[in-house]
Amino acid sequence: MTKPIILTGDRPTGKLHIGHFVGSLENRVKLQNTGKYDPYIMIADMQALTDNARDPEKIHNSLFQVALDYLAVGLDPAKSTIFIQSQIPALNELTMIYMNLVSVARLERNPTVKHEIQQKSFNESVPAGFLTYPVSQAADITAFKATVVPVGDDQEPMLEQTREIVRSFNRAYHTDVLVEPEGYFPPKGEGRIPGLDGNAKMSKSLNNAIYLSDSADVIKQKVMSMYTDPNHIHVEDPGQVEGNTVFTYLDIFAPDQEHVQELKEQYAHGGLGDVKIKLYLNEVLQATLAPIRARREQYEQNPAAVADILKAGSQKANQVAERTLTEVRNAMGLNYF
Ligand code: ATP
Ligand code: MG
Repeated sequence: MTKPIILTGDRPTGKLHIGHFVGSLENRVKLQNTGKYDPYIMIADMQALTDNARDPEKIHNSLFQVALDYLAVGLDPAKSTIFIQSQIPALNELTMIYMNLVSVARLERNPTVKHEIQQKSFNESVPAGFLTYPVSQAADITAFKATVVPVGDDQEPMLEQTREIVRSFNRAYHTDVLVEPEGYFPPKGEGRIPGLDGNAKMSKSLNNAIYLSDSADVIKQKVMSMYTDPNHIHVEDPGQVEGNTVFTYLDIFAPDQEHVQELKEQYAHGGLGDVKIKLYLNEVLQATLAPIRARREQYEQNPAAVADILKAGSQKANQVAERTLTEVRNAMGLNYF
């Protein structure tokens, strides 16, 4: 019996952070360890080029860092196929084929892409590759016939776009070669964790993240500088819990939620200072991240082994994607000779 296939990944635009951890990595590891799925985990370097075309160095460097982060959180190459997007040429061909099934207006309506375009201040020069990256994500997902896609909330529009493409393709070419995927999202509130600055999304590109690789000192320094309630000036002042990023993180990471509840009540009432709640959050995050950092350091000392994992994973992924591409070309009648 074949297992349901998982496909997900990350752009190598920097090291991975605690937003990735709760938004996607934790779910991947959990699903991987059930043994009930066949997971493919992709380092999306082609997609990273869509807004970093002139900075390939950054992508090369980040690629190794993302691989280390994967292994550090417990993705296991014996159970998950970890591969590099640019090593799978079939993905590009599928992208070109799907591009004809999507209108420019539809691409321009994608709320995540719309928001990112504003954030990145491309102005009038949005790269065509950036506008169309949801199509390339559809290629990634469908090439592996993935049905389960563990991602953060910002990826919902990409899944909807993928399902539309699958339906259009199957209808246009009278086939059932492509399979519709479903997103697998984290519990409410964890699918898009805010940045240290209180910004709506912790992101590699926004410089507001706690990285899985941050040292104990850096974590503490970042936590102590976090955005809380700007009106909570004196310890005795009543503080705002709602929208207070320190409490948002405690909700997600603290093992003792009863204690968090007590702290919230005290904070809202007045008499609990920011320093105290930050010191508690620091303790919680240190406990979460220390074992991850330790595993990361081990792999970091063995770059050749990491390269072998990526190479073997890419070879395997390539075979699978080539098989789907052949089916797609057959369905379209593109195999002339
Ligand atoms: P970039 O700024 O380069 O786009 P990013 O931080 O958004 O980087 P991606 O590689 O685009 O990271 O996203 C990888 C995965 O992590 C996606 O599934 C995304 O939904 C999830 N993710 C990213 N940021 C967060 C966050 N702040 N909270 C929860 N999940 C997140
Ligand atoms: Mg992103």
